[in-house]
Amino acid sequence: MPPALANGRSGQTDAYSMILDAIDTGIYRPGDRLVESELAERLGMSRTPIREALQRLETQSLLVRDGRSLIVASLDHNQMAELYVVRGELEGLAARLAARNATEEEVRLLREMVEADNMLLEHPAALARANRRFHKQIHLASHNRFLVQQLDLVHRSMALMATTSLAVVGRGKIAQEEHDCIVSAIEARNGDAADAALRAHISVAFATRLKQEAAKREAEA
Ligand SMILES: [Zn+2]
Repeated sequence: MPPALANGRSGQTDAYSMILDAIDTGIYRPGDRLVESELAERLGMSRTPIREALQRLETQSLLVRDGRSLIVASLDHNQMAELYVVRGELEGLAARLAARNATEEEVRLLREMVEADNMLLEHPAALARANRRFHKQIHLASHNRFLVQQLDLVHRSMALMATTSLAVVGRGKIAQEEHDCIVSAIEARNGDAADAALRAHISVAFATRLKQEAAKREAEA
């Protein structure tokens, strides 16, 4: 049993959270089929909670029907572009609010995260996880729980992109410099600069992903 399935990353043990976590961490990728009986066995649960979890994930469009099976959804080009627009706006707002509302401890934590994550440049998967934690910390530092909820939704859909732009050679280092810039603006309590820095960061991430997709298409052609 993969460890992430035995116990969700967030320590949650309900079927929904565990399956979501498995999608988020790439154990199940877009296009993979989820079979109720297999999941029940893997998670050591009866089929009823699994079925309920799968239904909930289908309602949230994280799973889609393919004939009689349920597969992990994938985002088409337009959906991806739409998601990045929303992400840029909401993350920018979170940074702006964080510059205003973050406690000194939260600002210090963000700075420590940037420094610690600089050690992970050679490890794209670890860096991608650290990146999610960093962004989540900015969301929380906004001290706006409705915004945090919306951003959780956005990040859940991000899991439907099979790859991380941080795997592109050189992107990790530049992304870290961008994080540094975001934290500096929050430290300076400059909302405009924090908003602009985070929007720029998301926009570069999107451009990187488009290049990555183009390269993949070329390789497959
Ligand atoms: Zn980032």
